[in-house]
Amino acid sequence: MNKNKKIVIIGGGISGLELIKLLGKKIGYKNITLIDKNLFHVWKPILHEIASGYLDANINTINFLDHAKDNNYNFKLGTLININRYKKFITYEYLNNLENKKKKIKKLNYNILIIAIGSISNDFNIPGIKKKCFFLDNIKHAMLLHKKLFNILLTFNNDKIYDIKNLIKINIVIIGGGATGIELSAEIVNLIKELKKYGYNYFDNKKINITIIEAGSKILSLLPNKISIYVYNILKKININILVNTLVTNIYEHGLKTKTNFYINADLIIWTAGIKVPDFIKHIKGLEINNINQLIIKSTLQTTLDNNIFAIGDCSSLKINNKFIPACAQSAHQMVKICCKNIISILNKTSMSVFKYIDYGTLISLSEFNTIGYLVLNIINKKIIIKGKLARFLYITLYKMHQIKIQGYNKTFLFLIVNIINKFIRPKIKIK
Ligand SMILES: Cc1cc2nc3c(=O)[nH]c(=O)nc-3n(C[C@H](O)[C@H](O)[C@H](O)COP(=O)(O)OP(=O)(O)OC[C@H]3O[C@@H](n4cnc5c(N)ncnc54)[C@H](O)[C@@H]3O)c2cc1C
Repeated sequence: MNKNKKIVIIGGGISGLELIKLLGKKIGYKNITLIDKNLFHVWKPILHEIASGYLDANINTINFLDHAKDNNYNFKLGTLININRYKKFITYEYLNNLENKKKKIKKLNYNILIIAIGSISNDFNIPGIKKKCFFLDNIKHAMLLHKKLFNILLTFNNDKIYDIKNLIKINIVIIGGGATGIELSAEIVNLIKELKKYGYNYFDNKKINITIIEAGSKILSLLPNKISIYVYNILKKININILVNTLVTNIYEHGLKTKTNFYINADLIIWTAGIKVPDFIKHIKGLEINNINQLIIKSTLQTTLDNNIFAIGDCSSLKINNKFIPACAQSAHQMVKICCKNIISILNKTSMSVFKYIDYGTLISLSEFNTIGYLVLNIINKKIIIKGKLARFLYITLYKMHQIKIQGYNKTFLFLIVNIINKFIRPKIKIK
């Protein structure tokens, strides 16, 4: 095996960080470099729980520098901006130090490059969206939204004390009826419930409107109908308004407009509708992309035009048996094994393996109100619906399995203990 080849992984998300660990175990970490634009890794499916204050960002993120030190690989804090495929180097923008806003450009050579930069919210260039909407793509967004939610709710509570005519209300609008929007809406209702225990008693369900707006004909359109209906009924029960077949066309300072020219007031708008890969990828020469900038890959996970460049996770687009592999944590995780195998095949000059996707199911967490989803029993090719405590247990297990993969059993167990202790000694929700 040629262990001297330089392997560069861009993006330390679910797929990138799991890949580093697996590759390191198989071939050693010496020639592996990870570049990420953030200093911290986070399991994105918990972002809405960080936004609501239910989970603490400090103990649910992993510092890349620390992870690299423990595992002996190179980490560079930087943002990929270009790839020179012919001379085999990438260029990335980095900050000299964490306070310095001045960015510098650096080059890094590679023999094998893995792009695992994930996705961001697709804003569809809707007028007003960048200025007014909140997003939930990374830890910074989650913390920003947390601050905004708290401010808006506390201001409402304090103003309500003097609201003799009962006029004050707030409108929170979540655009996108997929898993992220749905889970976030339930988290916000739970946050309001928890805040009441801290003496914020003036919350009145009729005066806090939470609305989910979905362009399609139903929420959770990718899940079985039964789950979509079940979730719809729970959301209705906890007073969340749901508008389907509603396409948002404009965002304004205090509201939004739909395609049918309907104006909806909004004090807070959170955009969770659709994904894309950042636009800079369009300018990299010689890589094939689709309409949302995902890199088109072959079943070996190599990009279609360059066998030395792999793409995995949300930033890749792969069609198997006429079906696109969904952009989700499960696919990102499953791609890691074949990507690692095929990198080793290049080093050994042996034949490549082909990726096969297995759908094990999906789970939706509705905060304290329920968890629901389906599991696929692949032997009999049947989907079974699960809910309640079992579903919640499996939902948490998925996160723990990811933590075990990237930090091992001992650290994951210790973090679990810290989390349990924190539940007793710290407030149930982060109140600041
Ligand atoms: C709020 C939320 C909830 C979700 N819930 C679920 C769920 O319940 N179940 C599920 O299956 N999926 C869920 N998903 C989707 C899931 O998180 C993604 O499919 C998964 O994270 C994709 O993994 P990835 O490795 O492709 O990218 P990511 O995990 O997104 O990681 C990408 C990494 O690349 C880095 N990066 C990005 N651009 C650059 C650049 N130019 N240069 C350097 N580094 C860069 C980022 O900082 C990040 O660390 C959710 C997503 C969100 C946002």
